Amino acid sequence: MTQTSSALILKGKPVADKILGELGASIQALAARAGRPPGLAVVLVGEDPASQVYVHLKGKKANELGIATFDHRLPVSTPQADLERLIARLNADPAVDGILVQLPLPAHIREEAVLRRVALGKDVDVFHPENFGLLALKQGVLKPCTPAGVIEILKHYGIEIPGKRAALIGRSKIVGLPLSLLLLHENATVTVCHSRTKDIGAATREADIVIAAMGRARFLKADMVREGAVVVDVGINRVDGNLVGDCDYEALLPKVSAITPVPGGVGPMTVAMLMVNTVRAFRLHALPEEPLQGEGR
Ligand code: NAP
Repeated sequence: MTQTSSALILKGKPVADKILGELGASIQALAARAGRPPGLAVVLVGEDPASQVYVHLKGKKANELGIATFDHRLPVSTPQADLERLIARLNADPAVDGILVQLPLPAHIREEAVLRRVALGKDVDVFHPENFGLLALKQGVLKPCTPAGVIEILKHYGIEIPGKRAALIGRSKIVGLPLSLLLLHENATVTVCHSRTKDIGAATREADIVIAAMGRARFLKADMVREGAVVVDVGINRVDGNLVGDCDYEALLPKVSAITPVPGGVGPMTVAMLMVNTVRAFRLHALPEEPLQGEGR
């Protein structure tokens, strides 16, 4: 076995910049034809510091691109009915193309009930169960942001997916489960590991592409991957004030052929894909006669 330290670093920012550059260039002309800009409503309940950062980043990026944002910051004590009434109002608002409800919601709010209220065509996070069903059947117009971002990174760096064995760690409804479907649609052979999997290493060592999306700092060790594997780290964990992924990056580096860093890997892609979805939703609402382009995205 030969060891290599020339792993390709799969940085997300250049990929996100490219996608956002193309999107930004098209928005002005689209807005001129539609007579209005795309609109994104951002709903934040409570004052969770990480959520505040994410919401700020998303709003800032949207405004830079020429997407109008509608900020709704609600107190942590907001009753379920009030939140659902707000969603109904945003559903009916013709200036709003996408509705982003930042998760997690406070414990007294029934998250599933709120997410089901979001109009299917404005569900830019793709959290509504009907949109998830359409995604599973490969009929969705919008793709979930973080999973779609992972696929975009792999494609951008020329990493072949069809016919490859992909192992995922994590099966959450936001990342692991939808990503397993996107990989399947890309013709990978997919293994999904989770907290009840008996021997995760046995599954990941078989894989050409290993994706960790579990929220456990530095879980994926060098002895859990094969020589030359491609590793994607979706995890974001705070350890002693630092951001670390689900992968033992330094230990994996000499063994893998490519790996995403944390931070700077998948993170920037999530925001970029949210912008892509908002503009797609806008086009469907405001310019329904024009065919969508960039179907792969
Ligand atoms: P989640 O909802 O907590 O799901 C975690 C998944 O990992 C579950 O399926 C769980 O299995 C599995 N898991 C947890 N511990 C495990 C263990 N010891 N062994 C095997 N499987 C285990 O988390 P999430 O929302 O998917 O997020 C995962 C990570 O990605 C987090 O660090 C999050 O911060 C990060 N994230 C990053 C982005 C980004 O933009 N980069 C976006 C979203 C999330 P069970 O199903 O059996 O419980």
